[in-house]
Amino acid sequence: MLTLATVNPGEPEVFSSLQGEGPGMGRPSVFVRLSRCNLACRWCDTAYTWRFAGDNRPHRDEVAFEKAGNQLVMSEEDTAALILVHPEDRLVITGGEPLLQGAALARLVALLKAERPALHVEIETNGTVAVHPALDPLVDQFNVSPKLSHSGNPAELALLPERLEAWARDPRAWFKFVVADPSDLAEISALQDRFGIAPDHLFVMPEGTSSAVLRDRSRWLAEEALVRGWRFTDRLHIHLYGDTRGT
Ligand code: SF4
Repeated sequence: MLTLATVNPGEPEVFSSLQGEGPGMGRPSVFVRLSRCNLACRWCDTAYTWRFAGDNRPHRDEVAFEKAGNQLVMSEEDTAALILVHPEDRLVITGGEPLLQGAALARLVALLKAERPALHVEIETNGTVAVHPALDPLVDQFNVSPKLSHSGNPAELALLPERLEAWARDPRAWFKFVVADPSDLAEISALQDRFGIAPDHLFVMPEGTSSAVLRDRSRWLAEEALVRGWRFTDRLHIHLYGDTRGT
């Protein structure tokens, strides 16, 4: 069984959209969003996947969501059927932290690939969870977003050396660092040097949930990416649709 996020109470968050971030930006894709996360980022824009009533870890909005309306448990078969209604040949599995549900995801992706063998499967992860061995060979791309100190997570939870080493060696992995302040850049450089992250697999992305904030931060961040030889990614979906579920 899979625990999914919802767009509305009782309605799983499965939708068609353009991938908004990273190497696949602009590509038509079908998305499925899973609930639950092992981290707690202060600026998380999907806090409805983890910050349920009683969870008092800091978040800038101090919101608390009712679990009942924001989670939905579904079988792998039912989830696959919902995804296959969508015509796109790219699937983005996002969250929350999807790799917490690795065994169930392996069953889901196996079902999907049996029906649609050319389906390109990408998983968005915070990079802290090892990929389930049954899931690993079924995945085409990992978008790995390690969380820096400004996220509010302790480094011993968010930046696990053995995981970062493994991602840096995996040609399917693309790193995407969320940047809010110029002081974040030294932290990224240190991680790049320590783990040998290839510059063409290293994206920086402004933090922000409005076009105005993204544009402000993009001005200096794009310049820094150019100087440092990193790749820059915007958040296309925010410009197109705003900060809304199901986009
Ligand atoms: S890792 Fe991702 S889903 Fe989890 S709290 Fe941070 S931003 Fe939100």
